[in-house]
Amino acid sequence: MVIMLKDKIALITGASRGIGREIALAFAASGAYVAVNYSSSPAKAEDVVKEITSSGGRAFAVKANVADEEEVKAMFEKVKEICGSLPDILVNNAGITKDGLLMRMKTEDWQQVMDVNLKSAFLCTRFAVKGMMKKRYGKIINMSSIVGFMGNAGQANYVASKAALVGLTKSAALEFSSRGIRVNAIAPGFITTDMTDGLSEEVQQKMISMIPLGYFGSGKDIAEAALFLAGSGSDYITGQTIHINGGMYL
Ligand code: NAP
Repeated sequence: MVIMLKDKIALITGASRGIGREIALAFAASGAYVAVNYSSSPAKAEDVVKEITSSGGRAFAVKANVADEEEVKAMFEKVKEICGSLPDILVNNAGITKDGLLMRMKTEDWQQVMDVNLKSAFLCTRFAVKGMMKKRYGKIINMSSIVGFMGNAGQANYVASKAALVGLTKSAALEFSSRGIRVNAIAPGFITTDMTDGLSEEVQQKMISMIPLGYFGSGKDIAEAALFLAGSGSDYITGQTIHINGGMYL
């Protein structure tokens, strides 16, 4: 199946590194005009843009802390100014961890994770649907996580944010379906990125022993699913979560 995103404008949050980067490359290779959002890695975001444009694709970097409403507003205005239209495809991918046992977790660590992982998706969705409602078509993809379904000791804030994204996905799917906007989620298992590189060798080996396929996934594994959800081949799918975890959660 060839998925064509020709003439589609795609905004991917947290696309300077990891999973978001792979999604940006895959969408651009399928013809989309890609807005590469980042918050603190301008050089890495520019590398993604260069990789896309050097192979004939279209992309630009856009800085915004997606937890900040004013910055999110400015990001959407910039996308509209550069592309001539608001995005047809939004991937709410930016995410952080601030791990710790619940009893000792600082309130600010709880709040920061909630703001970057969850509030950001609410804010970006609210801005994005303005354009999608006019076009009566749009695709929104929220990046959840396997731990949002399984729980994880030491990650109460992160797990709560990822479980809540699934609720947001279902409610948004119901609210916007009559306008042709599809909203789905992806729940990755353990994927090799900066986020998982921070885990100790011992923890990584323990995780691998719990994965039936016996290895961590890659950003490309997630990008393939995002591409499917962004394309017209998934038009009859909304409110769903695709699990990509090597069989770790069934
Ligand atoms: P990563 O390598 O740590 O990259 C995180 C990305 O998010 C970076 O591009 C970063 O931009 C961006 N970001 C962080 N805070 C931001 C903010 N306030 N505003 C805008 N952008 C921000 O993470 P990843 O592993 O690719 O994860 C991507 C998503 O998948 C996250 O939502 C994560 O929770 C989810 N996920 C990952 C895994 C995994 O195993 N890796 C598993 C399940 C779910 P800067 O470079 O500018 O900081």
